[in-house]
Amino acid sequence: MAVRHYAAASAVSSSFRARAHSLHPSCLPAAAPALPMARPCGGAWTRASYRRAAVRAMGASSSSLSSPSPQGQAQGKPVYTSLSDEEWKKRLTKDQYYITRQKGTERAFTGEYWNTKTPGIYHCVCCDTPLFESSTKFGSGTGWPSYYQPIGDNVKSKLDMSIIFMPRTEVLCAVCDAHLGHVFDDGPPPTGKRYCINSASLKLKKTQ
Ligand SMILES: [Zn+2]
Repeated sequence: MAVRHYAAASAVSSSFRARAHSLHPSCLPAAAPALPMARPCGGAWTRASYRRAAVRAMGASSSSLSSPSPQGQAQGKPVYTSLSDEEWKKRLTKDQYYITRQKGTERAFTGEYWNTKTPGIYHCVCCDTPLFESSTKFGSGTGWPSYYQPIGDNVKSKLDMSIIFMPRTEVLCAVCDAHLGHVFDDGPPPTGKRYCINSASLKLKKTQ
């Protein structure tokens, strides 16, 4: 819908089916010992923040031209991609804001969900879109919650060159553009993907 069209137009692959294009996530293998300095999910955010500002500007004009609500947004809900930094600060905790809106990374083994095995659905902490099912979560040994598959097209991807010589694929909420983490090619079957996600970008809703 509106958001997905916008994503595609921004030269970013919104579908992992198209992920093969030239991306080479030279990432840390899931089985590698997690070093304190290792940041398989993270990266410098200053350049990314700058880019976000530009993207937000484009998103605001784009969304104003589109009438349908994106998936996961009910009628009357705000268009999340047009919310200002100040509005996000009011809605989120300091950590949630830093990670989701400024592309930060929480320290390994410190997040709320890195070792959680509770059945349920992990939603976007910013807009409540369901992103990952607990059944696709696996122990990656990295210290970040890891999944081998997102829910539908609710997660989109984007090339991240914030670390020189280390191209990575950033993953974002498809509805509100929240930074979630990165996806790597060393995950388990059936997808072979490892979605390395910050706990602070998620909200687990337990299965009743
Ligand atoms: Zn979201």
